[in-house]
Amino acid sequence: MRIFGILLILVAMGFPFIWFPEIAKGHDTIALFSQYMGIQALICMSIVQLIATRAFFVEWVFGGLDRSYILHKWLGISSMVFLLIHDTVDADMEGLGRQNMLEELAETLGELSLYGLLILVVITIATFIPYHLWKWTHRIMGGFFVAGSLHYLFILKPFQNGDPLGLYVSAFCVLGLVAFTWRLLPASLRPAHAYKVASIENSGAATAVSFAPTGRKLRHNAGQFAFVSFAGQESHPFSISSAPREDGRIRMSIAPIGDYTNDLKQKITVGMNAHIEGPFGHFERYKPSKPQLWIAAGIGITPFLARAQDLKEGDAHVDLVYCAKSRTHAPHLDELEVLAKVKPNLTLSVHISAEKGRADAEVILGQTGAKTSGLVVSFCGPRAMREALKSDFAKMGIRGRNFRYEEFEIRTGIGLRRLAEFIMKRSKAKRLVLVD
Ligand SMILES: Cc1cc2nc3c(=O)[nH]c(=O)nc-3n(C[C@H](O)[C@H](O)[C@H](O)COP(=O)(O)OP(=O)(O)OC[C@H]3O[C@@H](n4cnc5c(N)ncnc54)[C@H](O)[C@@H]3O)c2cc1C
Repeated sequence: MRIFGILLILVAMGFPFIWFPEIAKGHDTIALFSQYMGIQALICMSIVQLIATRAFFVEWVFGGLDRSYILHKWLGISSMVFLLIHDTVDADMEGLGRQNMLEELAETLGELSLYGLLILVVITIATFIPYHLWKWTHRIMGGFFVAGSLHYLFILKPFQNGDPLGLYVSAFCVLGLVAFTWRLLPASLRPAHAYKVASIENSGAATAVSFAPTGRKLRHNAGQFAFVSFAGQESHPFSISSAPREDGRIRMSIAPIGDYTNDLKQKITVGMNAHIEGPFGHFERYKPSKPQLWIAAGIGITPFLARAQDLKEGDAHVDLVYCAKSRTHAPHLDELEVLAKVKPNLTLSVHISAEKGRADAEVILGQTGAKTSGLVVSFCGPRAMREALKSDFAKMGIRGRNFRYEEFEIRTGIGLRRLAEFIMKRSKAKRLVLVD
C-alpha cells in the first residue's frame, strides 16, 4: 500500500473540516459532528467504489491492486463505523425549516442505505460465504451508496449543495456513482485483452493454461497478475506464470482450491475465448541489485516462475526455495530445475514438507546458506505461513520493504478468527502459569 494514497485519503476526509467552524456558528455542534460523520462515510464509500474500478490510476495512487483491495475493505468497514455514529448521534438541527416530501424521502433513503450497508458489510467479513454469492451481494453495495448520496443531496442541512462544502461532498458522490456504473458495465465493454486458450496441460496439482492474443497484446512485467474470464464465465485473478514475450503469449497456472477452480478443466477448451483484464500488481518491483531469497509455497510459485524465466545475467543472486507437499504436487518443478541449470544466478532448493516438516525461516536459511545482511525476502503462498515467516525474519532484522509478499487472497475478513485464536492462546498460557 502506498503511503501517498493513504495520505490522500486522510486529506480528502479532513478537508471538509475547514468549513465547519463557520457553519458551527449558531448551530448545534453535536448534530454537526453527526453530519460530519455522515460526510466521512460518503467520502470513504466513494473511494471504495473508485478502487473497485481497477482503473490504471488505482495502482499508481494506492499501490498494487492486491493491496489496494485490502484498503478497499478497510475503507468499507470505516464507512460503516462512520454511518453508525451518524445514525446514533442525533443529526437533526433546529431552525432549518420544515421537511418537504423530498426531504422526507431523503431521510428514508438514508435509513435504507445504513441498514443495507450494515447487512452487506457483515456478509463481506463472513468469509465462509461462498465467493460467487458474496460477489453478488457485494455488487448491491453500490446501490446503497447511491441511496446514501441521494440522502445527502436532498436532506435538510446547515449548508447548501452549491456551497463549497456542498460541492466538495457532491463531487465525491458523483465520482463514486460513475465508478459504480463503470463496474456494472458488461466486461466486454471495459478495456481488456482478447485472448484464446492455446493449450491446457497438467503440471503437478495445477492446470497450466497458455493463451495467445487475438487482439491487443497484454504487456506485463514478470511477477504480475491479471483477471481472466473464459468465454464470459466469472473472472478470477491469477499470476502470469511466464515471462513477457514479444508475441504476447502468456500462461497462467491454476490450482484447484474452490468452487470455480476445482473443475476448471471441464469448463475450458482449447480455442475458447478469454477476456483478460490487467496486468496488475507491484510484486514484480523487486531490486535485482540486492541478494534475493524467494520463498514459494504450492501454487505461490507462479509469480516466481515468471521472474525466474526473466532473470538477467547481471542480476543479483537468487535463492529460490520451493515448498510443496510432494514432488508430484509441485507445479512446474521440472521447468524450474532446467532454469536453475541454465541460469548461473539462480539456485533452487525444494522443500518437501511430507519429508522435511514445516519450513520456518531458520530451516530455509540453513537450506540455502543465504546471509541475512542486505537480503530481500519475497514470499508467495498461504497467509498463515507468510505471517509465521514474516515474524521469524523480522527477528533477524529483515522487515518492512525487505520482506515482500503477494496478497493471494483478496477476501480476507477482518481477522476475527485470528483474534479469537490469539485470545484462546493467551488465556491458555495464563492458565498454565497459574497451574505452575
Ligand atoms: C494477486 C493474486 C494472484 C493469484 N494467482 C494465482 C495463481 O497464479 N494460481 C492460482 O491457482 N491461484 C491464484 N490466485 C488465487 C485464485 O484467484 C483463487 O484461488 C481463485 O480465484 C479461487 O476461486 P474458487 O472459486 O475456485 O475458490 P473459492 O473457494 O470460491 O474462493 C477462495 C478464495 O479465492 C478468492 N476468490 C475467489 N474467486 C475470486 C474472484 N473472482 N476474484 C477475486 N478473488 C477470488 C477469494 O479470496 C475466496 O475467498 C491468485 C489470487 C490473487 C489475488
